[in-house]
Order: sequence, then C-alpha cells, then structure tokens
Amino acid sequence: MSSLIKDEAIVLRKSYVGDYDVSITVYMRKQGKENIYLPKGQLFKSPYISSTEPFTWFKGVFIRKREKFFIKEIDRSKTLGIEICKDLNRFQTASYMFDTFNRYIIYPDEKMFIFLKKSLYYLTDSCEIDIFRLNFLAKLIYLSGIYPELKRCVRCGEDINRNNYQLFSISEGGVVCRKCSRQKGNLSYRHLKYLQQLKFISFKNLKKLKIKGSLYLEKILSDYLSKNM
Ligand SMILES: [Zn+2]
Repeated sequence: MSSLIKDEAIVLRKSYVGDYDVSITVYMRKQGKENIYLPKGQLFKSPYISSTEPFTWFKGVFIRKREKFFIKEIDRSKTLGIEICKDLNRFQTASYMFDTFNRYIIYPDEKMFIFLKKSLYYLTDSCEIDIFRLNFLAKLIYLSGIYPELKRCVRCGEDINRNNYQLFSISEGGVVCRKCSRQKGNLSYRHLKYLQQLKFISFKNLKKLKIKGSLYLEKILSDYLSKNM
C-alpha cells in the first residue's frame, strides 16, 4: 500500500548511505519530522541533489510506502545553504538552530514549521546574530508551551516586581520571590524583561532589540530547554 502526499519540507540533516544513496531528515508542514530515503541521491544526475541540502525548503509530492517516505517530485525549492555558508558565524548559528530543532521537536506542529521557515528566511537578512540565536531559543520554548513563568512567583503565586524578585529557577520553570528563597539570583531583573520581550517580538523588530549579556541569557535558555523538554 502506498499513498501520495503533497507537503512542504525543510531539510534538517543529510547523510550518505553507502556510495550512492542519501537519507535526509526533514520537518514537514503537515507530517512533522520524517526521514526520506533517496536511492542514488549522491549522483550528479539525481534531480534532487541541490534541493536535499540542509537549510533548504521545498514543496513537492511524496510517496508513503510502509511508513517510509520517498520523493515523487519537487515542484519548488529554495536552497539557502550557499547564502548561509558565506559567513562562518551565520553558518554556525544555522547549524546550531537545526541541530536543536532536530533534537527537541518531534511531533507535527504547523506553527513550528512556519517558525523554522521564517527563521531560515530571516537568517539570511542582516541582523545581529547573537540576538537572532536568543530569539530562536526563546520562540522554540514558547511554541513548545513551556515558556517560563515571569510574572508570578512559582512557589507562592505573588506578583513579581523589581523589589521582590529574587531568582530564576530553571527546574521550577520561573521566577521566585524574596519571601520564598534566600538564595541570590542567577538572572538580573533586566534579563527578565528581555525574556518578556523575546516571547512576542516579531522577526522584523529583532533589529530594534538591544540586549546586554545576551550570551549569558542564551546559556540560561539553553539549560532551561534541556531540563524542561
Ligand atoms: Zn514566593
């Protein structure tokens, strides 16, 4: 039994199988994450050789046969790898984003697909790369439905403000007030404000965002993601 499926896909990974074949991991708009096998995909005559590179978006028709996916035809594709590879920092960021996405996002979710597609598109635009990475992590956490609680103490429910804010607890998923903990904070109140902004800011407005200590905040979000997913 095989069925034809029309969908869009973004290539997360490509690996070579033997001397001729290729296997790619994609995230599809409707199907979610899938592995696609391309017999003779390594050969220059393969019609899919460029559209199966990582950092590529394509739209086409797929064949599903015994829970395995194959490509029947590609209607349109946009390969952004060449553009991304022109700048080392951008390439490293793109690789980090795609690895992270590949590790944590498994289930089909159209919002996730759109987010990944937009991230890919805006990465080739001129933007501050550290902020871009931070935004990627924040949005990935937000769309996964596990964004940290920033307004109320996770222990007692008290509203948090500049005066009673004590610390940010990664394991408890949010802020803790001064009454509930004596331990000193790992994240400043200003960092909390950045986290609030990152939750909703659009890609277009990222250029306007100025963040001090973005690498530290990135480390916190990365820890948060690995401990809460
Ligand atoms: Zn409290």
